[in-house]
Amino acid sequence: MATTPRAARGHRACAIVVGAGMAGLLAARVLTETFDQVHLLDADRLPSGDDHRRGVPQSRHPHALLQRGADVLEHLFPGLRDELTTAGAPVYDHGSTFLMWFAGAWAPRIDSGLQIQAFSRPLLECRIRSRTLSLPGVILHPDTIVEGLCTDRPGRRVTGVDVRRPGHQPTSLEADMVVVAAGRTARLASWLAAIGRAGPDIRVVDAGTVYASREYTGLPGEWNGLAEMALAPDTTRGGAVTRIENGSAIAALHGTVGDRPPTDEAGFLAFARSLGNPLLGELLAAARPVSPVYRCTDMANRRIDYHRIPDWPEGLLAIGDAVCSFNPVYAQGMTLAALQALELRAFLHPDRPAPAARVFQRRVRRLLTTPWTLSTCEDLAWSGTGSLADRTLHRYLRQVLARIPDDPGLYRRFLRTLHMVASPAGLLRPIPLARSLIAPLAPMTHGSLPARTKGPP
Ligand SMILES: Cc1cc2nc3c(=O)[nH]c(=O)nc-3n(C[C@H](O)[C@H](O)[C@H](O)COP(=O)(O)OP(=O)(O)OC[C@H]3O[C@@H](n4cnc5c(N)ncnc54)[C@H](O)[C@@H]3O)c2cc1C
Repeated sequence: MATTPRAARGHRACAIVVGAGMAGLLAARVLTETFDQVHLLDADRLPSGDDHRRGVPQSRHPHALLQRGADVLEHLFPGLRDELTTAGAPVYDHGSTFLMWFAGAWAPRIDSGLQIQAFSRPLLECRIRSRTLSLPGVILHPDTIVEGLCTDRPGRRVTGVDVRRPGHQPTSLEADMVVVAAGRTARLASWLAAIGRAGPDIRVVDAGTVYASREYTGLPGEWNGLAEMALAPDTTRGGAVTRIENGSAIAALHGTVGDRPPTDEAGFLAFARSLGNPLLGELLAAARPVSPVYRCTDMANRRIDYHRIPDWPEGLLAIGDAVCSFNPVYAQGMTLAALQALELRAFLHPDRPAPAARVFQRRVRRLLTTPWTLSTCEDLAWSGTGSLADRTLHRYLRQVLARIPDDPGLYRRFLRTLHMVASPAGLLRPIPLARSLIAPLAPMTHGSLPARTKGPP
């Protein structure tokens, strides 16, 4: 794949994508529109089917795809939704058969207009991978560990990557552009340091969230799923279960600030039964577990401000969890990877002069602003260390959640915001902002569980 680096506009020969996870696959899909060859490098030996793999340990946990993300994926891979349906992934309206429990009561059952599809992460990734690899010019390099960046002599431009493959001498691969999509554990900051770039600012907001997930079959009831979220400052635990392909369901329990869902049979069920909503524990007790309980403890919100590095090298872009990863309770990661792929497409538009690579990082940062604010304002509330704006937003959102059980219109707007198809501004109408500063918060403690004010709607 050695090529002479050339970034002449209109002709781009070769791109390298580091990481064949969600962001890397979507980036590769978009890069095929402007590059003759797209080399997709992954440290894993990638499975041919929908199996779990070492490089994506989070695949054992539920991966909800928001409506906005699903729309982008369908746009990039027409027919994907039908393909997943044929593979057994259920499609349903979020408001009617997926129950959500807020503030001691079920949200109303509504027709939300949000048709969501639920599947395991391996099924989604496998289908996107096979679609991407079938595109002309895409070449997969499994078992290929990227260890650093290569630059031109002045060190201004990235010209490729250093790689190691088991059983081979370390080598370098050249490209006109390198896109780093190596996920949450990406070592891009140290690769940049090795080529003389100052360390970026790293912002971490960690509520100490821990997930424990397990797959089941035979989930009783008519529901496609149900969820309850931990809510600062007093509800430290939550959980969800979702039907996925092949009649299976995946359940995830989560705890924050030291409240850790257990991984043993009895402890897992007892944690589910201790939630505010009584249904999750009942359903799990009646279903048949078909996997061990998997735990994930690295759930912090982490943002690396690459856009602030003043001498960010040309020829290098970074996307996905390598730039910003979220507490997954809000299910934003894959949708943001999809939106960043669209941003990449706009950035590479062949009819316009390519801006400096750092401009792309600034655009990614802009895209992340609202999801970051919403995700971290809840998690900062546990420590009480948020700014006045964070605390106000948190109090406001608590009031919105408390009203949802009695307000179908508000619930519809909430779901549309959650699925990123509407601006959060739609939530600002029903309660004057000023009131959220002074109104007392309704307690939702686990010591004294909220009364079950309403049964499933
Ligand atoms: C427990 C949990 C639950 C989640 N639930 C949801 C959810 O419900 N909805 C949602 O949208 N998101 C969810 N997410 C987030 C989602 O998994 C990520 O946002 C998404 O996978 C990001 O894609 P990515 O390509 O950036 O990283 P990944 O998908 O993690 O892929 C990174 C890839 O890079 C490869 N790699 C790493 N280092 C190297 C290297 N040096 N050389 C070569 N290859 C390398 C890895 O093998 C891997 O294939 C969840 C995350 C966790 C942890």
